[in-house]
Amino acid sequence: MPDTAKQTTLNAEYPHLPLKDQFALVTGANSGIGEGIARHLAAAGASVAINYVVRPETAQAIADDINATGRRAIITQGDVSDEASVQEMFKATLGQFGCLDIVVNNAGLQQDAFLTEMTVEQWYKVIGVNLTGQFLCSREAVRHFKQRGKRDVSVALGKIVCISSVHEVIPWAKHVNYASSKGGIMLMMKSIAQEVASAKIRVNSIAPGAIKTPINRSAWETPEAEAKLLELIPYDRVGDTDDIGRAAVWLSSDASDYVTGTTLVVDGGMTLYEGFATGG
Ligand code: NAD
Repeated sequence: MPDTAKQTTLNAEYPHLPLKDQFALVTGANSGIGEGIARHLAAAGASVAINYVVRPETAQAIADDINATGRRAIITQGDVSDEASVQEMFKATLGQFGCLDIVVNNAGLQQDAFLTEMTVEQWYKVIGVNLTGQFLCSREAVRHFKQRGKRDVSVALGKIVCISSVHEVIPWAKHVNYASSKGGIMLMMKSIAQEVASAKIRVNSIAPGAIKTPINRSAWETPEAEAKLLELIPYDRVGDTDDIGRAAVWLSSDASDYVTGTTLVVDGGMTLYEGFATGG
């Protein structure tokens, strides 16, 4: 939601502007984690393109907030699961920014069902947005970085950050399409990182645990639901979008220059398997 005061507070977190003079594109940035990442990248000094597939007014409100605090943001439409749409989105964004240094593959969704009830449309939809979408945007990003050549704003030629999930390693009953997409992102990210490392392009993932956003509202919006969720989180709090925004700034900045092909798990210990804390 629009919040200029919040943006002003975030800007104060990054007095040294680690992403100064850089240009970033964040997919699915008009909600939840993508919004948080866009706000943090902008606070850290990057000019940010906020991608949306629907509801341009929400993307514009976030951009207005960022621009009102002296940072820079634009909005850019595109469906990440559609090849032509992704290419048009990159063209339009580059038309305004001139170049890109950082691409964050964040757009994602869930369509949950038991295996025996899941339609092939639900399977293709989730794989299409969550996995094919990240492939299409990564491919356009690498094409652009190589064609654009070195800029003096970063040690790397370019940085890609993929938003995965703890479900790249934790199986998830009733979510076979989602867990398959996130497991796929892990090896997609590593394979691309291996292929482009010598070109000085860094590719990494963030695997969030439970973060309060619209995608999982039912899991945290009542005290009973939140208490049940906390049983899975050793650190005893549900995450927020700032936790992921800060990780994205680090992975996009030269502070992580020797880091590529890795997943940064930001989950309050969810992947420590809390059930084993008392000996299993
Ligand atoms: P969200 O529903 O708030 O945001 C998802 C965003 O993706 C929205 O902006 C939506 O419009 C966009 N999107 C959906 N389909 C798109 C398409 N075809 N093209 C472009 N954009 C599209 O949910 P969120 O929790 O912020 O999720 C963001 C990412 O974080 C997802 O990849 C999700 O799997 C991942 N994630 C979330 C959590 C969590 O606990 N919230 C945990 C692990 C991973």
